[in-house]
Amino acid sequence: MITTNNCLDKITVLGGGLSGPVLALYLARRGFSVDVFEKRPDLRNASTPAGRSINLALSKRGITALEEVGVFDRIKPSLIPMYGRKIHDLNGDTRFLQYSSTGKDFIYSVSRSGLNKTLITEAENTDKVTFHFQHECVGVDITQGAVTFLKKETGEKLKRTNFPVIGTDGADSVVRKFLSEDGLVSDSLDPLNHAYKELNIPPDESGQFILDSNALHIWPRDEFMLIALPNLDKSFTVTLFLPEKGKISFETIQSENDLFNFFQNMFPDVISIIPDLVTDFFKNPTGKLGTIQCSPWHTKDKAVLIGDAAHAIVPFFGQGMNASFEDCTIFNRWMDSTENWGELFQKFSNDRKVDADAIGEMALENYIEMRGSVNQNIFLQKKDLERELELTYPDRFVSRYSMVSFHQIPYSIVKERGIIQEKILSTFSSNNPSILEKIYKEIEEMIFNELPPLDQL
Ligand SMILES: Cc1cc2nc3c(=O)[nH]c(=O)nc-3n(C[C@H](O)[C@H](O)[C@H](O)COP(=O)(O)OP(=O)(O)OC[C@H]3O[C@@H](n4cnc5c(N)ncnc54)[C@H](O)[C@@H]3O)c2cc1C
Repeated sequence: MITTNNCLDKITVLGGGLSGPVLALYLARRGFSVDVFEKRPDLRNASTPAGRSINLALSKRGITALEEVGVFDRIKPSLIPMYGRKIHDLNGDTRFLQYSSTGKDFIYSVSRSGLNKTLITEAENTDKVTFHFQHECVGVDITQGAVTFLKKETGEKLKRTNFPVIGTDGADSVVRKFLSEDGLVSDSLDPLNHAYKELNIPPDESGQFILDSNALHIWPRDEFMLIALPNLDKSFTVTLFLPEKGKISFETIQSENDLFNFFQNMFPDVISIIPDLVTDFFKNPTGKLGTIQCSPWHTKDKAVLIGDAAHAIVPFFGQGMNASFEDCTIFNRWMDSTENWGELFQKFSNDRKVDADAIGEMALENYIEMRGSVNQNIFLQKKDLERELELTYPDRFVSRYSMVSFHQIPYSIVKERGIIQEKILSTFSSNNPSILEKIYKEIEEMIFNELPPLDQL
């Protein structure tokens, strides 16, 4: 077990976003002192920067980490449950697709900045964690054993020689960049070539939600989509996902006229409920999306990457933050069964990478489902079958969405089981209903032979 005896001085965590404070909380609970360096000013004194994803979907894996570090009860009052997807067709029709067969499972909508602020405060309250805001990491030199920071308020450069260093500095991680430049890890970015823009649906005139507040709203349009998640102030954060270039793309929306034509043709029911469409669209930044691969995630006993720094993924399964929090849970678990930092980093990185790769792939697949498949009859037919199988074989057949969002089955196993389940659903849906009874036996055998009960995993 790794104890405070393995670390004479403070642990350095680079990045005070979502996973940095959660990791610091885990370490503080073990008695470690932690210094967290964050390039931005303290969020608690600043207004939310425009254009950042203002709310996020929080589910089982993230909740578990927050419970383990003892902060979930503090966060819970600010969460809004979402029980399913509300699909908005082009003609204005809507359909509700609940997340689980029982209709009881839900994910939460949570404010990114609210969550971040609470995590920072809770970490500070342990008296073991110190945040150094406006400290931008501008160099990591493993050979020289030094990390360099730019203190933004004064322009002064500070050197720190405490190792190990834990990089929780997000998708554009400089820790990863410096390790990669020194040939210690290799990394790559697979761009999605679709980007996003955040907009806002304010409350109605009486200050109430204008849409159903207990759903994640989707306007799927095959090649692109709009989604909306509820906020505590009764508004919705809307995100437009659209190709960067091409016939219908961010590139082709250059004027107010282009924008209105696009919304009029594709999202006519939304125009009237986004009063600041023009200002938001042209003022808010266009965010890029992609998948980061890195291997390994560590360098001996000197540095390790956690969260988006190691494995940023596209946001279509609502799992980037949840996976990053689960990284912290697994890292903490490995601290019980390893003896030194080098062994810990290696075991964590080996164990977890396969799961990060799996959720990265599933998130890409989910974009296709969200923006298009949800409109197709075959998809809806499969959903009905899936629900029936879930209710008939609850210990073996659990939808991939549920396994990801409501369970903690390793993502790589979820992916494998998802492939088997898809095969079963396709067998069903590709057969004429009149022969379904005949093939039912075959399907049941597949379920019993290929899908071990979940409690045996
Ligand atoms: C549009 C969109 C929607 C999303 N929706 C969801 C969702 O619904 N559910 C979900 O689970 N995930 C979602 N995600 C993913 C989620 O935002 C990330 O996975 C999560 O923020 C990762 O946490 P992190 O701590 O690794 O990185 P971050 O939260 O990005 O934190 C990194 C921190 O490091 C700091 N930093 C960076 N560089 C330096 C430096 N040089 N020196 C010091 N500090 C530095 C940054 O300022 C930042 O505070 C979404 C992402 C996007 C883009």
